[in-house]
Amino acid sequence: MAGKMYILKASWILPAWDREPIQDGALLIQGERIEAVGSTEELIQRYSNLPVEDLGEVLVFPGLVNAHTHAPMTIFRGLADDLPLMVWLHNYIFPVESHLRAEWVYWGAKLAVCEMLRSGVTCFCDMYLFEPWVIRAVEETGVRAALGEGLFDFPSPGYGALEKGLNLTEELLKNFERHPLINIMVCPHAVYTCSPETLKKIRRIAERYGATVHIHLSETEDEVKECVSRYGRRPVAHLDSLGLLTGNLHIAHAVELTDGEIELLARRGVSVAHCPESNLKLGSGIARIPEMLAAGVRVTLGTDGPASNNDLDLLSEMRTAALLQKGLYRDPTVLPAREVFRLATEEGARALGFPECGRLERGFRADLVTLDLTRPDLTPVHDPLSLLVYSARAGAVVDVMVEGHWLMRRGKFLTVNEEEVRIRIAEVVREIRTLLRK
Ligand SMILES: [Zn+2]
Repeated sequence: MAGKMYILKASWILPAWDREPIQDGALLIQGERIEAVGSTEELIQRYSNLPVEDLGEVLVFPGLVNAHTHAPMTIFRGLADDLPLMVWLHNYIFPVESHLRAEWVYWGAKLAVCEMLRSGVTCFCDMYLFEPWVIRAVEETGVRAALGEGLFDFPSPGYGALEKGLNLTEELLKNFERHPLINIMVCPHAVYTCSPETLKKIRRIAERYGATVHIHLSETEDEVKECVSRYGRRPVAHLDSLGLLTGNLHIAHAVELTDGEIELLARRGVSVAHCPESNLKLGSGIARIPEMLAAGVRVTLGTDGPASNNDLDLLSEMRTAALLQKGLYRDPTVLPAREVFRLATEEGARALGFPECGRLERGFRADLVTLDLTRPDLTPVHDPLSLLVYSARAGAVVDVMVEGHWLMRRGKFLTVNEEEVRIRIAEVVREIRTLLRK
């Protein structure tokens, strides 16, 4: 593949979760890909004719993957907190969403992309309504994403009757079949909002296109109880009986799992998006991550929507994930930084159908992030991985590159006008407040 070739150097590079950090490191970039990684001295010697750009005193690491969110819900951040999931959904979120408009989704998604880039996310997994407008925001900003229209039995403000939602999903699958930055998924909301007939239709579409199915599953005890009373089976067995438990299934939450269910998910190659902060905030519980990892389940990390977290900061999500299991097990060796970083990079990328992302190595896509090592909270550098997982927070990110293109340089966005987004969001919020007063 042709493309401009150049060297990027920095004080530290962490190429991947299982590689040692390189002090005074460099990357050879060609077009959208990484051609080589090594010490600056070595790369400059080997490629003495190439231009060299110095990123300065930063840590370069592979872009993080937010493996479950509802990006446009930034517009509902802080709208209603401290409520049980079903009360929160039925009394607050669903009623406001029934008035949802495409423009809200578009500006909400742009705000979400700004927020995610500032926390080092270069790729995210999105399930929401009016998804073509999220796709528009993704295409305009140049970020990477796996997305799908949220599907359920009742009429949607996005597409109307379910059949139209299924048609929309097929249309998106056809239109974005070979897009380098966008993967389309089929997204049934949950087993309590999609009938078995709906889930069968969804399975057939996913099979036809080889698409990933993304669904909320086993999030709360109530969901499991309701599923058992309605269908006589727990959610995992219910999906299995409908033929959906395959290597193309990506489930969010998986808080309520038995040992047998964990074994089955591992055997079938199902991937799990662990969303610890959302599970904590909604009082849903704590997912059995060490057991899932021991059984060989592919675990990834997500923030969930910004109305139930309440941010899209994957750096803080890494720290929460690690601390939570250590506290739960009363064992500081559980879920070490390296493991959490693996979930947030390589595992997330694979689950979302981007196997060439999540590592800074020859042949991988140039999706990278830099962290400001001159900040007091990121000083000194004994161990870059420790800084990244336990000390870094959103705002410490300096530069972001996706597919070889800079989306942020020295803290400034190059593909999105942050001020315009803020103004538009203020307009959207005025409309939401008016609706809430009615
Ligand atoms: Zn969710």
